[in-house]
Amino acid sequence: MTEKSGQGRSQVDLLLRGGVVLTMDPARRVFSPGAVAVRDGQIVAVGLERDVAARCEASEVVDCVDQIIMPGLVNTHTHMPMSLLRGLADDLRLDVWLYGYILPVEREFVNPEFCFLGTLLSCAEMLRGGTTCFADMYYHEEEVAWATVQAGMRAVCGETVVKVPTPDAATYEEGLRYCADFLEHWQGHELITAAPAPHSVYMCTPEILRETTELAQRYRVPQLIHVSETKEEVEQWIEATSMGPVRWLEEQGVLETKVVAAHCVYVNAEEMSLLARYHVGVAHNPTSNLKLASGVAPVAEMLEKGLAVGIGTDGCASNNDLDMVEEMRLAALLAKGFSGSPVAVPAIEAVAMATIYGAQALHLDHLVGSLEVGKQADIIVVRLDETYAVPRFETTGMNIYSYLVYAAKSWDVRHVFVRGRQLVRNGELLTIDKEEVISQAEDLARRINRFFVEREKNVLDKLVAIGGLKRQETFEVQAKGILQSEEAFRKALQHPDIHIIRHTSRDQYDTYFIFDDPEQGWLRYREDHVIQPDGSVEPIYFLTLTGPGKEDVYEGSIVLSRARYTAPADRSLRFYREYFQPKEEREIIKHRERYHIRYKGLDFAVNLDRLLKPASRDLFVEIKSRTWSQRDALRKAKLITELLRIFGAQPEDMLQREYVDLFSETGDSE
Ligand SMILES: [Zn+2]
Repeated sequence: MTEKSGQGRSQVDLLLRGGVVLTMDPARRVFSPGAVAVRDGQIVAVGLERDVAARCEASEVVDCVDQIIMPGLVNTHTHMPMSLLRGLADDLRLDVWLYGYILPVEREFVNPEFCFLGTLLSCAEMLRGGTTCFADMYYHEEEVAWATVQAGMRAVCGETVVKVPTPDAATYEEGLRYCADFLEHWQGHELITAAPAPHSVYMCTPEILRETTELAQRYRVPQLIHVSETKEEVEQWIEATSMGPVRWLEEQGVLETKVVAAHCVYVNAEEMSLLARYHVGVAHNPTSNLKLASGVAPVAEMLEKGLAVGIGTDGCASNNDLDMVEEMRLAALLAKGFSGSPVAVPAIEAVAMATIYGAQALHLDHLVGSLEVGKQADIIVVRLDETYAVPRFETTGMNIYSYLVYAAKSWDVRHVFVRGRQLVRNGELLTIDKEEVISQAEDLARRINRFFVEREKNVLDKLVAIGGLKRQETFEVQAKGILQSEEAFRKALQHPDIHIIRHTSRDQYDTYFIFDDPEQGWLRYREDHVIQPDGSVEPIYFLTLTGPGKEDVYEGSIVLSRARYTAPADRSLRFYREYFQPKEEREIIKHRERYHIRYKGLDFAVNLDRLLKPASRDLFVEIKSRTWSQRDALRKAKLITELLRIFGAQPEDMLQREYVDLFSETGDSE
């Protein structure tokens, strides 16, 4: 260029020229052929190519003929490191997936290296598919932030805080401290917004939310939270607090901050208005909601109410990829199918959700989301020369958006820039060594795989893996026999050596899981309906794993049983069924009168059992006691023999088997 021809032209770093420029600005202007000029990472000119090119002298020119120049895609909700758990366990219910697989593997494997590597793997995938900015919620968020900076991407990095121990915090106080340090450290960074991420109302306490809210206010950053993802979660919340999660969040003062609410599947009109009033950003995650069968968010209504609804992929463990082009298409299609209206969420709105609305949802729209002078140069270039891009019409002004939403593929993205820096050129990653990241991810996957193969072999390991159960064995001496008469039993209770300490009456609904390998023993889920003195019933739920067979037999019929692991069953029978996948299930229902007695200075439990399913005319007596040593067991066995005689059970009526085994051959005898 001569001095003369350069007169009146400004020097820029980068000029993208010749393509169809989708600005996504408030007027949704499109320039074709258009151009975008960038200086110092900022957009300095956008317009028709002939206007922009005439005004600019560029150090680097990228020819974008037959391509779309548009804002980088904004992924408003993900869990970056979880790409390392992609495909680990699919087609499961949320609780089985989370408590059975994800949490155990997170406890075992998630550390700073895991988070750094997982984030790089995710960045590589996202960049290749045109995503330039994302909002993350995970642990060791420092690592997520560093990996993101290495990749050159922009992100809101949310350090997750929950009320239970996490891979980076033994207590929530520790989690909050990590969060505060993290926010302090990354203040004012040009690419990273460090944010608190209280997981959800049900995984947090009011104190946690108070603290994260204060942090968000002090550092003027967003806070990220899952809101109303499943129906059960919302129903339980209403039951516990008499208000919906959105109202509750308002009451806690959380909505005063810049909130990004992921999911919002179950929000009613009133809640939508509330979210809009507080400018809460919504992250809609179509694939994740579909895959986990959570439901479909009322996106069209939320947009109508003026809510900033962006699109998110959610984590790779529930998606299983990070393809924003696919999510954009799903968002448009799902809204139509769900509402029964083909005009719901038209293509241009879906593109807006993936760009400018997403930026608004993350409270970053002053920086990104559209191609406007003064904004950051987060730009992608998408090819238009594949068969599925042909032919091209310009009939309604919407054709180009339709192409992007209904036909384009993520791999059509050719170039990616963040703050004017090129991160992808002709589909090649410039900041991430893809082969190296893949090989490290595969190494880790082999270790995780071994962990699961080992665990799946053993019912006890599986039980321990879901928590709530310590590896603690108990030993029990017990005897069971058919009772000659109830009268004799009642009379025996008056025996001068027998002192009744406590008496309860209960109906017990037992489900036994039987496994292929008899060495695994069996697992019993018990619903114990304790009948209160006033006749009301108070159910308690227990899970017991009993080792196979008997350990030892004393006195001819007293069994010493080993390896009984008992824990409160805090999940549903359905959960355990889907998690353990037993070969067979057997149901035993009985009415039990339980007497806690003292006999010759030792404590015993004496049960008078009447079997209801399978029904039996016989009455059974069961006497048992916990034991700790061989000597103690022998002594108790002797006393149990005496007691059996007192209660009127004859030696020939003794049974060495559990009820579940008694009826296994005959099946139900109802
Ligand atoms: Zn999520």
